[in-house]
Amino acid sequence: MNDCLFCKMVRGEIKPDIVFENDHVLAFNDINPQAPVHVLVIPKRHIATMNELDDAYLGGEVLKAAVNLAKKLNIADDGYRTVFNCNQHGGQAVYHLHLHLLGGRQMAWPPG
Ligand code: 5GP
Ligand code: ZN
Repeated sequence: MNDCLFCKMVRGEIKPDIVFENDHVLAFNDINPQAPVHVLVIPKRHIATMNELDDAYLGGEVLKAAVNLAKKLNIADDGYRTVFNCNQHGGQAVYHLHLHLLGGRQMAWPPG
């Protein structure tokens, strides 16, 4: 057992607001949303950062779940942003790989 926050969600020890789940990924609403839609999509297997992503299939499952959720949550046509933050300069705070799916408002570019 590890102490990772998102692994605890995968094991059901902490219960996030889940919006999608299959054998490979879990998706839930961010606790501190930065947009009207702010979902985190995570692989169920612990992968700390993008640098440790060793499974293209699993990465694809994360991406596919995000696209399907964008359609289901009706932000696909207007558009949305997907972000993986990696390590310190990327602004990563939780060291279990997660894809941010953000939408429902105009996003600024470039990011801060
Ligand atoms: P990072 O900065 O690592 O890319 O993003 C971590 C995200 O996890 C943040 O957007 C933060 O709000 C979210 N987060 C942190 N703790 C929790 C939690 O306990 N529950 C949920 N649902 N989201 C969390
Ligand atoms: Zn983990």
